[in-house]
Amino acid sequence: MPAPDIFYGIDIGGTKMELVACDAALQVRYRQRVPTPTHDFDVFVNALCGMVRQADEELGERAALGLGVPGIIDAATGAHLSANVPCLTGRQLLPVLRRRLERDVTLGNDCQCFALSEAHGGAAHAAASMFGLIIGTGAGAGFVADGRLVRGRNGVAGEWGHWPIAPSLLKQYQLPILPCACGRQACLECYVSGSGLRKLHAHLSGTAGMSAEELATLRDSGDTLASAVFAVHLDLLGAALAQIVLAYDPHVVVLGGGLSQLPHLYRALPAAAAAHLIPGMSVPPILPPWFGDAGGARGAALLAAQAAQPITEEA
Ligand SMILES: [Zn+2]
Repeated sequence: MPAPDIFYGIDIGGTKMELVACDAALQVRYRQRVPTPTHDFDVFVNALCGMVRQADEELGERAALGLGVPGIIDAATGAHLSANVPCLTGRQLLPVLRRRLERDVTLGNDCQCFALSEAHGGAAHAAASMFGLIIGTGAGAGFVADGRLVRGRNGVAGEWGHWPIAPSLLKQYQLPILPCACGRQACLECYVSGSGLRKLHAHLSGTAGMSAEELATLRDSGDTLASAVFAVHLDLLGAALAQIVLAYDPHVVVLGGGLSQLPHLYRALPAAAAAHLIPGMSVPPILPPWFGDAGGARGAALLAAQAAQPITEEA
């Protein structure tokens, strides 16, 4: 059977859904965007299926579909937990789409799609392995080895944002034990994501806290407290990266999410991670994203393409 030569990928965001059709060379042949219906599951499914059918008509295909969905999928029930698209919470999207669209549908999260896209033609192209480290509203990741996403049994491989922060760091910086959206406490995400940085600033300043951008401007104007907040943030992030090196030992790390736009991370994070590693152990290159968020739909198409190629298949 000849290999299919078109795959669809859809990136589902809190405000828009983007569909791309990629060919075997990963060139985008077709693109479509619609607003995301976030509050009614049936309206959401109808909009999504409408996009796919329109692509089928334009391209004369019925291509396999990959979806990048924000939030967490319960591995036991397949139900979503999504803050950005509330109508998905508690619903099982995959069987509904497979039935309605009569084709293979593969789900991943937005971080996994980011990593796949950066691993293929992006910042980590041709790296033997790469860790897509996303520090945005939340903290997530995708780990790609030999070009393929490593998802693990629960599909949560690389979810470093929900590793607990080291008690020694909580004590050293006298940080509060913050509740995490996942239901646990003191997850790294609560301290190092974009919202975590705001919480760090709030805690250390006794104010409501600022966004990363505002805080960086303040630091650049010579504000010592803003510098101190970034120093704590860098140390916590360095400690997390050291754990990622010990767990995954990636050849390249690509930063994603809003905080990937902070230039000091590329300069200072390697030394911050090295300080938490065994002496002599090397920290991988830390690179800015090539596609960034714009690669989400492309990464989702790669999910579909990889699902169609069993791991055992010889190249
Ligand atoms: Zn958590």
